[in-house]
Amino acid sequence: MRYGALEAGGTKMVCAIGDENGNLLEQYTIPTLTPEKTMPELIRYFAERRIDALGIGAFGPVDVVPGSESFGKILHTPKVAWRDYNIVEPFVQALSVPVGLDTDVNAACLGEVMYGAAKGLTDVVYLTVGTGIGAGIYSGGRLVHGMLHPEGGHILIQRHPKDSGECICPCHTHCLEGLASGPSIEKRWGRKAIALTDCAEVWELESDYLAQGIMNLLLILSPQRIILGGGVMQQKQLFPLVRQKLAKKLNGYYDTPELRRLETYVVPAGLDGAQGIMGCLYLAQNAKLLETIE
Ligand SMILES: [Zn+2]
Repeated sequence: MRYGALEAGGTKMVCAIGDENGNLLEQYTIPTLTPEKTMPELIRYFAERRIDALGIGAFGPVDVVPGSESFGKILHTPKVAWRDYNIVEPFVQALSVPVGLDTDVNAACLGEVMYGAAKGLTDVVYLTVGTGIGAGIYSGGRLVHGMLHPEGGHILIQRHPKDSGECICPCHTHCLEGLASGPSIEKRWGRKAIALTDCAEVWELESDYLAQGIMNLLLILSPQRIILGGGVMQQKQLFPLVRQKLAKKLNGYYDTPELRRLETYVVPAGLDGAQGIMGCLYLAQNAKLLETIE
C-alpha cells in the first residue's frame, strides 16, 4: 500500500508518501496560497504517486465529524480565502480514494501516540505552543471530537500579577493562547521567543501560564502523558520550569506514579517535528481500513 499524508497548515502544505509500517518515503512542501492556486498542485502530486488513501491534518476550525453535512469544510478561519472551503471533496473526486481528516493538532497527537513519545498509551494530551496554542486530545484510545473538536488553547488562565502585557486573542481577555503563544511573547517583550532565550523573566512567566493550562487539562482529562511541541517549546529551558510550577500548583492534591516522575510525564515531542505528517499517514491507513470494513 502507498499512503498519502497532507499536513495542511496556514502557511505551508507538507505532503508525504508513506507505507503501512509508518515509513516516510518522500516529502514535499509548498506554500499555502489560495485554494485555486494550491489545491491543483496538491492533487497533481498525489495523483502522480497513485496512493491508496489520503490522510489530512488541517488547520481549523474545520468540520472533522464524519457523517456531518459539512464534513471537510474549513469553517470560520482568519485565512479568508479558505473560509467555507471543503478540503476533502476535491481529493475524493480527483483521486477516488478514501480520505481521512482531522485537525492538525489532533493529527500531531495521533502521530505521537502511534509512533512517538506516547506510543502505546490510551490517554494523551499533545499541546502545541507556537503561532497559536492547540491541544490534541486522545482519550480512551481515540481522538476527541465531540460537537466539532476541542479548542484547548483558549481555556482561561489567571493573569500573572506582574504581567502588564495584553492578551492578544481577539475573543478573550485572559486565555492561554492570548497570553502564552509565540506572538503574545513577541508582543509583550518586543522580540521573538528565539531572541529571548537568556531572559529569565520571560520563561518564568511563560512557564507559569503553560503550567496553569496543563494543570487544567490534566485535572479534566487525567492523561497518562502530556507532550509539549511547537516552536516555543524549542526553548528547552521551559521544560524543567513548567514541571516545577505544575508540581507547585498541584500541591500534592493528585498523587499518581506518573505525577511522581514529572520528567517522564511532561515531555517534549518525540518525532523531530514529523509528528503531524506521521499522524496524517496514520489517518490515511485508518481511512483505508474503514473502507475495507464497509
Ligand atoms: Zn482565546
